[in-house]
Amino acid sequence: MAAEILDGKGISKQIQSETKTKVAQFVTQFGIKPVLAAVLVGDDPASHVYVRNKERACARVGIESQLHRMSSSSSTDDVLARVMQLNDDPIVNGILVQLPLPDQADARVVLDAIDPLKDVDAFHPHNVGLISQGRPRFLPCTPHGIVQMLKRYGIQTAGKQVCVIGRSDIVGKPMAMMLAQRDSELGPELANATVTLCHSRTTDLARTTVQADILIAAMGRPNFVTCEMIKPGAVVVDVGINRVGDRLVGDVDFDAAMTIASYVTPVPGGVGPLTVTMLLENTLMAAKLQRMESPSIRTSRIQPNA
Ligand code: NDP
Repeated sequence: MAAEILDGKGISKQIQSETKTKVAQFVTQFGIKPVLAAVLVGDDPASHVYVRNKERACARVGIESQLHRMSSSSSTDDVLARVMQLNDDPIVNGILVQLPLPDQADARVVLDAIDPLKDVDAFHPHNVGLISQGRPRFLPCTPHGIVQMLKRYGIQTAGKQVCVIGRSDIVGKPMAMMLAQRDSELGPELANATVTLCHSRTTDLARTTVQADILIAAMGRPNFVTCEMIKPGAVVVDVGINRVGDRLVGDVDFDAAMTIASYVTPVPGGVGPLTVTMLLENTLMAAKLQRMESPSIRTSRIQPNA
């Protein structure tokens, strides 16, 4: 029997509608809109598309977005100066620096400079530390989106064998960390997994992946995960986004996975939309946190009828 498709796009719509309601409540309570500032350095076409998608998503739920474009020749210090300015701007709740940065700008230095309270991507070491201790301030967008999707399909991770392929700071590592916790924001049934984290130096990758009840591929290798690597009945989450010719494909051979798995995420329309959606949730969370930190700032931003 063919697997069921995990409809990330549909789940995203559902979550965004919930976020919109929560944003409206925030606006009613505080008289201001949450604000997300995106820093876009250079001319990478994919980055431009990603930032535009984020702006549109903000508009859909009532979050205000700012776009800070910087030239492709910007140095680390140039980008740092912009980040510092946004850190100090009481209007701005969330800051995202769109990656990758041009070679001459050091992304690590820049990301480390973002105020942890405005770090809506959850990349700052302070926020990563909190995640690793199981008391997150913000959850990283892609792993959080995946957990939200599992939850909404009634798929539990507790007691399951989970294999994550890829150990990046953005996806693989935080994903593994979150699922191995004793508890999660979404309940213990969405934590407590036995997690194996694989990477390019893993020997005999297929021997590990085929044991996984839940297989999460985040490698950036088109159609790499084949039928033989998937346990019959497994849940397969494909994070990869790879351009092959004029098509976007994932890290998983989708057609093959559909013949053996119980659930599969498509690419596009799977994890991607959820990543943007969780960024909106984090921006709202940042706005709330900043109200708690200094409730007297930022009054009267919204004019009547605005
Ligand atoms: P990185 O390039 O930072 O990391 C890739 C990881 O995959 C590395 O840990 C690497 O191992 C591992 N890897 C590469 N080749 C192999 C292999 N043959 N066998 C086993 N492991 C391998 O990528 P990201 O985590 O940033 O992104 C991964 C993919 O997910 C990309 O396609 C990206 O576009 C996509 N992505 C999608 C998002 C979404 O919203 N859907 C969000 C973010 C990313 P090693 O560490 O040893 O080099």
